[in-house]
This record gives sequence, structure tokens and C-alpha cells, in this order.
Amino acid sequence: MESLIRGNVLSHVPNGKQFCFPFVTGHWTSHSLGKQVLVAEPSVVPGRLCRDRPMDPVRVAVVGAGVMGLSTALCISKLVPGCSITVISDKFSPETTSDVAAGILIPHVYPDTPTHKQKQWFRETFDHLWAIANSADAREAAVHLVSGVKESGAVTLTRRIEDLWELQPSFDIVVNCTGLGSRQLVGDLEIYPVKGQLLKVQAPWVKHFIRDGSGLTYIFPGVSNVILGGSRQSGDWNLTPDAEISRDILSRCCALEPSLHGAWDIKETVGLRPYRAGVRLQKELLARDGRRLPVVHHYGHGSGGFSMHWGTALEAARLLNECVQALRTPAPKPKI
Ligand code: FAD
Repeated sequence: MESLIRGNVLSHVPNGKQFCFPFVTGHWTSHSLGKQVLVAEPSVVPGRLCRDRPMDPVRVAVVGAGVMGLSTALCISKLVPGCSITVISDKFSPETTSDVAAGILIPHVYPDTPTHKQKQWFRETFDHLWAIANSADAREAAVHLVSGVKESGAVTLTRRIEDLWELQPSFDIVVNCTGLGSRQLVGDLEIYPVKGQLLKVQAPWVKHFIRDGSGLTYIFPGVSNVILGGSRQSGDWNLTPDAEISRDILSRCCALEPSLHGAWDIKETVGLRPYRAGVRLQKELLARDGRRLPVVHHYGHGSGGFSMHWGTALEAARLLNECVQALRTPAPKPKI
């Protein structure tokens, strides 16, 4: 396990690959700066638990590298001292659902999540992105670069996880940010896909967004293209674009903005929104054969992942901090 992690981590470094965070316009991209980045190796010492030596770093595995996994890793690095963070995922940008999103910040409704929580997550996300938009980095942010997990001392590992117990004893705590993958990984049958299809076109004269009242049809000018949407197909796992849906999107968008008849370089893109009646933000203590594995679940954002990501990532980091404190608390000595 140790060599596997180190081998894979090191193989990422020469690429100079950085994972960037969505800007207020919601662009999500990986952006190679063509330079080396410093990363810290995880302290992989199988069989050792942090509570045995309270000052050792707590080894945190964040599973998933979409907007949730990366923003959670960043929030943990900012809020919870004394952790080594490894982001483990079978897919990284540009292959995640988060890469497909239109990236518009609009409040979405989660029936099973208390309204005050949804408002708090949206406000924290909005404030975070608004601050970036008004910072000295705004110009650079507008061309996608905002921040990077490697910059924060986290390391990445490309690997599919079939069972969270695979991560024990190499890690002390696991954060589950696998989105739709949680259906299989943790057997959560409440999460399901809602397929969405978008068109990315060249229409540089379009400078303002247009969105119809239902939210199904929208035209959103980005930095390098204009996004035309959209579609919703509940329960559909098929990632292949449907030509009929593309024609329908183009026709609906042209009805809103007739000049789009002149758009060119039309590219279709498909993603599966990880739908759930409520976002799962929850601690769970797994137990098997006398072993324990604390897990923080952070998934199920459906259509609103970008709109909520910073607020829910902060909350996931707070839950992780509670797990860290519990690990650092010495077990009571047995009375003789
Ligand atoms: P993902 O991006 O799917 O990331 C999950 C990660 O987990 C991936 O890296 C995956 O490889 C990894 N993973 C899964 N299972 C495993 C496993 N077993 N082992 C290892 N790794 C695993 N939201 C908005 O707020 N505004 C919008 O305008 C908007 N538009 C959208 C348009 C479309 C067409 C779509 C499809 C979505 C849109 N969304 C929008 C929603 C947003 O994209 C999602 O809510 C968000 O991307 C979910 O992020 P995530 O990190 O939870 O999931």
C-alpha cells in the first residue's frame, strides 16, 4: 500500500498538474502551469493510529476529485491543522461530472435538507467566490485559475476504491466525496443520476446570460465558449450525447436568442447529476472485526453542486475536525 501510494503520487508531480477551483462564473478546469508544484508525501505507516501518538499527523483520505472532493481537501487544509491529505479518485478533471456543469450559481432546493442550512451553504459559497471576483487575482481567476489543492500540501492518487475499508490502516479518517459513485461504494440507493446534456458553441457576440423561467433552457457566455442548455433525464446512466436532444436545445436557445443560428463549432457534452433528496453531510463510524474507521460523507448535490460547494465543504471540514479531536483524545485508562 505504501509503495503504491508513493509511486502514484510521484507520477503526478512531473506533469505539473494543478486542480483549479470554480470561479464565480463557474468555470471548472484543470490548468497546467507548466511548472513544478511542491507536494507533501502522506505519512503512510500501516497499523499506527493517531491517538497512540497525539502529535502525529492524522492521515485523511478524501475519495473523489470533483468539485466536492477538491474543495473539501482545500477546506480541511485551511481549517484542520495537523492533517496529511491525500485525494484518491478514479477520475480527475477534465473527466468528472463537475467538468460538465454549466457552473451557474443559482440556489437549488433539496427537500430533505433544512432550508436554513441550504441558505447558509449558498451564502458561504457566494461570499467565497465573490471575494475572489473582487480580489487582485480576479483577472487571473477569470481565465480559470483560482487555487490549487497541491498548493495546499495535498497529494493525489489515481485509484478506484471498491470498499472504504481498503483505505485502512493506511488512513485514519476517510472523506467520501464520490458523488454518484456512493451508490455503489457505500450502497446508498437514495442517490440516482439525472442526465444532463449541454452544447458548447462559439458565439463571441453573446455577452449576457439568458435563462427561461423553468431553468431548463439557458444561454450562458463563458470565457472560451457559450454554453447552451439543457436537459434532465432522471435515472438515465447513459453518457452518450443524444442528437435529438442537441437539436432540441439549439432550437430552444435560438428561440430565446435568434443570433445563435450563426453559432459555430458546436460540441455536445453530457454529465450525470448526483441527485438525492438531501445532501448527505454526515459522520459515520464504520466498525469491522474490532477495527474502526471514521468516515465523513459529503455527496448528493444534484443540480446545485457549484452553487453550494464552498459552504458544504466548510461543513465537511468541521465534521472532519470533530473526528480528528476524537482520535486525539486519549482513551480512558482502565481502572484496576
Ligand atoms: P463529481 O464531479 O461526479 O465527482 C465525483 C468524484 O468521485 C469523481 O472524481 C469520481 O471519479 C470519483 N469517484 C466516484 N466513485 C469512486 C470510487 N469508487 N473510487 C474512487 N473515486 C471515485 N451545478 C450548479 O451549481 N450550477 C450549474 O449550473 C450546474 N450545471 C450542471 C449542468 C449539468 C449538465 C450537470 C451534469 C451538472 C450541473 N451542475 C450544476 C451540478 C454539478 O455539476 C454537480 O452537483 C457537482 O459537479 C457534483 O460534484 P461532486 O464532486 O459531488 O461529483
